[in-house]
Amino acid sequence: MNEPLSLLPGAPTDLGTLTARRLLPRRERRTVGPFCFLDSYGPLAFTSGKPMDIAPHPHIGLQTVTWLLAGEVFHRDSLGSEAFARPGVLSLMTAGRGIAHSEETPEVHAGRLRGVQLWVALPDAHRWDDPRFERHDRLPSIDLGAGRATVILGELAGAASPARVYSPLIAAELALEPGAAVTVALEPRFEHALALLTGQASVAGERLPIDTLAVLGSDRASVAIESGAEASRLLLVGGAPFTEPLVMWWNFVARSHGEVAEARADWEAGRRFGEVLGYAGERLAAPALVARPVPHG
Ligand code: MN
Repeated sequence: MNEPLSLLPGAPTDLGTLTARRLLPRRERRTVGPFCFLDSYGPLAFTSGKPMDIAPHPHIGLQTVTWLLAGEVFHRDSLGSEAFARPGVLSLMTAGRGIAHSEETPEVHAGRLRGVQLWVALPDAHRWDDPRFERHDRLPSIDLGAGRATVILGELAGAASPARVYSPLIAAELALEPGAAVTVALEPRFEHALALLTGQASVAGERLPIDTLAVLGSDRASVAIESGAEASRLLLVGGAPFTEPLVMWWNFVARSHGEVAEARADWEAGRRFGEVLGYAGERLAAPALVARPVPHG
């Protein structure tokens, strides 16, 4: 029997020049499979300025996934990668033991922005790997009848993304026509969640608000989704439950407070992460690390 759907509205979160909705982590739900972070931003329309302008900052222990529905984001990292994120193109940065990057609206832009960023926690066996960046503009898609699924990461209904991943997972964008009723096959050993990004849709008769995490739980062989009078786009994420203990602080995904403190000290001292060249401005300073209270006894 399927777990009932639980709906967790995204929480407004300040990215400096931009307000996003944070769907993961939430107090009620820290992870879905290995996905430990999900921010959704836009839709924005602008003629000047840089709605996205995140100065160089470090990451460890995760992969960042940038997936846009509209607009562009320019990425620079400490490996020397420079890449434009665009709709339909996967930008995947594997931090491993450490990388730094900046993310900004490019000078030439469409004047629109809508997208998501996901973090995938790396399993112990790979979290000290070399950092890497990859971009994929030919992702497989599956015909759903009155819609299509684009496989961003992992495998869905036999179609596999070429992106490198380190644990069993799925991330897919579902694009449904108005009035569509589709069924998407799921891996029952995975836990899954859906987020409606545009349009109208319902799952199991329940209407999904925009940017709300609909947690499906595990042991589901499929999910039935209906689109409303408008076309809709949804994000499906899932994976084998991630059982390693995560300590998340700022942009770091670690296993202990000590690892976080060391990564913070390395960033502040200019060690480990390398330099992001070409960004017009200062890099981000790490926030103060408040010591965790030590339990008595
Ligand atoms: Mn980042």
